[in-house]
Amino acid sequence: MRSSTSCNSPPRLALHGGPPVRRRPLPLEFPGAHFYGREERLLTRRVLRARSPFRYYGFARPEMTERFEKEFAQFLGMPHALAVSSGTAALTAALMALGVGPGSEVVLPGYLWVSPVSAVVRLGAIPVLVDVDRSFCLDPEDLRRKLTSRTRAVIMIHMSGSTGRVAEVAALCRRRGIPLIEDVAQAVGASVRGRKLGSFGDLSTFSFQLNKNMTSGEGGAICARTLRLHRRAQAAHDLGYPRTRAGRLDLSNRALTSWGIGARMSEMTAALALAQLRKLPRICAAMRVRKRSLKALLKDIPGLEFRRIDDPTGDSGNFLITIFPTPAKAAFWVKALRAEGIVTARQGMSNIRMTDWGMHIYHHIPALVMRAAVSDGNNPWNDSRNRSSVGRTYGKGTLPECDDLISRSSLLCIPPTLTRRDLIEISAAFHKVAFAHPLVSGKRR
Ligand SMILES: *Cc1c(COP(=O)(O)O)cnc(C)c1O
Repeated sequence: MRSSTSCNSPPRLALHGGPPVRRRPLPLEFPGAHFYGREERLLTRRVLRARSPFRYYGFARPEMTERFEKEFAQFLGMPHALAVSSGTAALTAALMALGVGPGSEVVLPGYLWVSPVSAVVRLGAIPVLVDVDRSFCLDPEDLRRKLTSRTRAVIMIHMSGSTGRVAEVAALCRRRGIPLIEDVAQAVGASVRGRKLGSFGDLSTFSFQLNKNMTSGEGGAICARTLRLHRRAQAAHDLGYPRTRAGRLDLSNRALTSWGIGARMSEMTAALALAQLRKLPRICAAMRVRKRSLKALLKDIPGLEFRRIDDPTGDSGNFLITIFPTPAKAAFWVKALRAEGIVTARQGMSNIRMTDWGMHIYHHIPALVMRAAVSDGNNPWNDSRNRSSVGRTYGKGTLPECDDLISRSSLLCIPPTLTRRDLIEISAAFHKVAFAHPLVSGKRR
């Protein structure tokens, strides 16, 4: 813009026809998969050699899933861990362990993923949305306002690698006698002041799907604080009954007789998950270090704000959320940065406006907004036992703070393989856009 002869004039943005800062795509996210190697090969081979892919019995005594559960519980600092087939199954079994059903409200934040909501609705309960604060996680002030005599559980979701005021939320739930589930699918390995996320609640759930910090392709886990909840989750994730020591169904325990969801983990999956768990601290450290360097490189850009993270040393580091002053500026910046080459290859979702982040935003979940039925004649919003709760709505505008933050923020993945050069080029692109289009007025020239 303006005269291109002045030495002070900004370089032409790639968006406006100038040369981009970089042309090679950034590495894809999928943190755990970048670390696949010898350990994964060794452990999966052991399962193949023993011809024992099922966790409860086989030709040889299966050991992978049990080993994984022991090490996972120890890693988290929780007394019990149960391996399951996915994060969605983990949430479902956790809610079943708590007895959530028609007549219950389950509270959860508006920046989320479809799985926790679907788990609540499939069980016939009513989801109640709570606003988020600048940490992009559940706001305890709004939580206090949304609790009712029907609240059966609170799900705090540690979004995008880190958390908000989890200790405060846990204390509030304890005071009110309401069970807390932590959904740690996006933040496994993260901690707050030395305490692992997933060790604050009564139950915590995890996913090991490809996008998560550690991955077995599919997979998940549930940690429980009490043996009672652990046993109930165990029956729920399996066929509705506990198992004997020999791994056979025990049909004699009346207290634990119910309907299960068939979501066991296989020994092959457990072999991958175990190898990844042992690398998890390294995976998170790689992302955290890169994120810290990038934030340091961007520090001098006026008007750029980042998501609030109270303890950056415990951040798992997988995402950088940038908050812009207005939605229009967020839209322009993301477009301009992408034109400068700050994009991943096609399979990736990186450097996007958060409004394009699909079913991570409550009002982008079609089934929630339209309050869709689970099956014919089975719709929690038409169930008389939910009479006092059915007035809840889920359209855009329900959570003003969440809507505002999402409308003017961007999300950049921080793969653990970003090179020094990648970081410098990302920073160069940010500075180039900042020079051409300052975020705060009066800073140019
Ligand atoms: C990925 C994810 C899940 C679901 O995990 P799956 O293993 O894909 O079923 C649940 N909650 C959150 C917050 C997630 O990001």
